[in-house]
Amino acid sequence: MVYDVGVVGLGPAGVSALKALEGTGLRVLALEKEPAFPRKKPCAGGLTPKAYEILKRLFPDVDSVVRKRVNRFLLYYGERSTELLSEEILTYLTQRDELDAFLFSSLDHSQFDLHLGETALTVEKDIDSVVLHTTKDRYRVRVLLVASGVNSRIARQLGVKRDIGYTYESDVESDREELIIDFTDFGWGYYWAFPKGDVVTTGLGEFRDRRVMLNLRGLLAKFNRKHGFSERRRWSSGFPIPAGRKKNDVYRPFVLFLGDAGGLVDPVTGEGIYYAVKSGVVAAGVVKRFFLSGEESKLKEYETAINSLLGEEFHWARIVGRLFFSLKGLNFSVISRSQVVARLTADLLSGRISYRDSFFAYLRHLPGALIGR
Ligand SMILES: Cc1cc2nc3c(=O)[nH]c(=O)nc-3n(C[C@H](O)[C@H](O)[C@H](O)COP(=O)(O)OP(=O)(O)OC[C@H]3O[C@@H](n4cnc5c(N)ncnc54)[C@H](O)[C@@H]3O)c2cc1C
Repeated sequence: MVYDVGVVGLGPAGVSALKALEGTGLRVLALEKEPAFPRKKPCAGGLTPKAYEILKRLFPDVDSVVRKRVNRFLLYYGERSTELLSEEILTYLTQRDELDAFLFSSLDHSQFDLHLGETALTVEKDIDSVVLHTTKDRYRVRVLLVASGVNSRIARQLGVKRDIGYTYESDVESDREELIIDFTDFGWGYYWAFPKGDVVTTGLGEFRDRRVMLNLRGLLAKFNRKHGFSERRRWSSGFPIPAGRKKNDVYRPFVLFLGDAGGLVDPVTGEGIYYAVKSGVVAAGVVKRFFLSGEESKLKEYETAINSLLGEEFHWARIVGRLFFSLKGLNFSVISRSQVVARLTADLLSGRISYRDSFFAYLRHLPGALIGR
């Protein structure tokens, strides 16, 4: 069978690309290895305002799967704590299985050949297309969008370079309301507790420190005890998470890598849903231009676009991350003592201000914050 476009993986990246391809008349094959939605994907389900807004533009009914809107974060470092309070929403909280099932059901299924329960295995390059081998068949596609997440087989086969960190997460039964971020214990990472009504998703992620990575489960139990979360777990699991770079390796001839498959995750906060959706939209735009012109060079523009739109931000995120994590105690004191820096931190964590702008604003406010202004 021959298709114009193949999409592998129907998480936020794949589904957003499909949404943006609706109405183009292109012949599209979409594959998902899971046999049905909802399906589980380890994720805290936090949407920053920018993630919520891009989703809302593509999927106007997204509010139907928002469980909570939060304008207060409780931050911890050891026994110290402080609060970030904002007049605006800092995070929208969803359950990932509900979010993804909603996104999938919002597609116009009549426009695509949707194959659930079919796993993509390998790709083979041909002169002007690729051949995709799956657990059920083989397909020739002109352009392949690989959106199969951090464990993508095709990304591994084609040697896509990504930095990988590790997480461990659980859903504990609790009706607690507060959103907690705790920086104790990490080289480059944090614990979280995201309330969803009947459950709280608690977890931790670490990008650098091997000792933390080897004890994720034990550390999460420690965090749950510290903050009084019950041992009644509905679910728990470890899972890798990529960290975005200045130059992201997201293109091979006729193959584009989206979302986690391309490593497109904020290297400080671990936010990935926004970048998955954004890369899906950018990929769809590139695909449309490719079919208008027929020139392969149009496809390569995907990598340039991703690196200028997202790579620059990941670059500054790494600079801010180094500054923050290497002087955590000092930075925590500054956030606790200075309202201006606390507001800046809230704006940064909610994605309202870029890492670059926050870096210069922080340097500007640091002297005042250190003397208690
Ligand atoms: C513990 C944890 C917590 C996180 N919390 C947050 C958060 O609060 N907010 C946030 O923004 N980001 C968070 N992230 C990151 C976020 O989950 C990812 O960045 C996001 O899911 C990436 O979307 P995606 O569509 O690229 O990949 P995925 O969501 O992983 O989707 C990939 C899809 O491809 C399918 N698939 C895989 N292999 C194949 C195959 N061979 N053939 C066919 N189908 C296949 C999978 O079944 C899946 O449906 C978290 C990540 C982790 C690990």
